[in-house]
Amino acid sequence: MSTTAFDVISPVDETIVETVRFAGRAEMDARVERADRAFATWRRVAPGDRARLLRRFADAVDADIETLAGLEVRNAGHTIGNARWEAGNVRDVLGYYAAAPERLAGRQIPVAGGIDVTFHEPMGVVGVIVPWNFPMPLAAWGFAPALAAGNTVIVKPAQYTPLTVLRLEQLALEAGLPPDVFQVVLGTGAEAGEHLVGHPLVRKIVFTGSTAVGKQIMRLCADQVKPLTLELGGKNANIVFADADLESAAATAPMAAFDNSGQDCCSRSRVLVQRSAFERFMELLEPAVKSLAVGDPADPATAMGPLISARHLAKVTSYIDEETAVAFRGSAPRGPGFWFPPTVLAPVAATSRQWREEIFGPVIAVMPFEDEEDAIRLANDTPYGLSGSLWTRDLGRALRVVRAWDSGNLSVNSHSSVRYWTPFGGFKQSGLGRELGPDAVESFTETKNVFIATGE
Ligand code: NAP
Ligand code: MG
Repeated sequence: MSTTAFDVISPVDETIVETVRFAGRAEMDARVERADRAFATWRRVAPGDRARLLRRFADAVDADIETLAGLEVRNAGHTIGNARWEAGNVRDVLGYYAAAPERLAGRQIPVAGGIDVTFHEPMGVVGVIVPWNFPMPLAAWGFAPALAAGNTVIVKPAQYTPLTVLRLEQLALEAGLPPDVFQVVLGTGAEAGEHLVGHPLVRKIVFTGSTAVGKQIMRLCADQVKPLTLELGGKNANIVFADADLESAAATAPMAAFDNSGQDCCSRSRVLVQRSAFERFMELLEPAVKSLAVGDPADPATAMGPLISARHLAKVTSYIDEETAVAFRGSAPRGPGFWFPPTVLAPVAATSRQWREEIFGPVIAVMPFEDEEDAIRLANDTPYGLSGSLWTRDLGRALRVVRAWDSGNLSVNSHSSVRYWTPFGGFKQSGLGRELGPDAVESFTETKNVFIATGE
């Protein structure tokens, strides 16, 4: 493992934003050992005091939203509106879980000859491995409940996007969190990431990223029977029935897929439209796609910025070749930066890689379906099961379809899938466990059962 310098490149104009240094093996080990020592005291901080420190951390993030958002615009090319939302989400997730320490109550279970009580014990050092697509929120969904439960945390951001998470590390200290309770280490996944996963003092892993790497991490965790939460990929469907409000469905379909340039695990990249409404839907979709403002993410009027890297641009581009039927495309700037125009594919075959693989760019494929049964079959015909949307005016049908759909986060006549106070996570190969919502803190604890004899 090397302590090399790494240039953080802006995807907007390919300039160097900052040069950071990766941690070497000795530094990684020292950081984990410090986190483990800090755990011994952090777990004993009174619940009300831990809550207050987390509220202060939330306040520090709130006061820093413009700085954090500006950093994410430069580092990741996120639109300024999105970046502000993301920083605000960190504040809100911290605020929400700041209410957990005093409420992390066990149970008292009736038994003969004594009393039986359960405790939610913190686990120790938690490793949070974050991808580059939403650097701030995806870190916070792991670290906020983990800290609230009394664990210490080490975050490893993606090598491309370390800047906002480094800033959060600084804000935590300024807010008064004791040293080493919340740390950020930089490095590649293969080096720093794997080292964290394999370190015996790291007692739980939260991983958000690709399904391929998630499987690798699950294998590594097996060696130590290390618990883990996995938030992995998606190939999510947007099902539009002929009885739906087609205008709304078509007006919202582009950003349901192209938000964050399609670099979103919840991107609704497979659009299924009932055959009788297919032509009308495509007529409505075309102007909605062509009118998207793609360009400078610092401009509040921009809907979509660039892709994260030259490498990722090459990957997304590989899905469009001479064989691919492009129905229509929006625009994208030329010149420096990793730009890709919003693209709609039709017709596509259900066996094609464009229909089956997570492209993770601004590309949607549209396919007709016949009836309810057909729609459910097509929506479920994927190894993933993360999110999805359904458009219909028939309430009975909406409920039948959502219950039959093997997916963790669904919305009806809407594309919303993430609220910090509702559970989030995937079925099948989209993940393991749930983040956010009222129960996430417990997944950062071990339940301990204690029987106390009273005699007789
Ligand atoms: P990735 O390549 O799997 O990387 C994710 C993180 O894991 C990065 O920090 C990466 O570090 C690290 N990593 C890579 N190899 C590793 C290894 N062998 N051991 C330990 N850590 C390792 O994913 P990505 O390309 O950054 O992100 C895109 C993927 O994330 C998509 O599939 C997307 O769907 C998924 N995602 C899922 C959710 C969800 O909540 N379900 C949310 C967002 C994104 P480096 O990059 O620094 O090497
Ligand atoms: Mg990667």
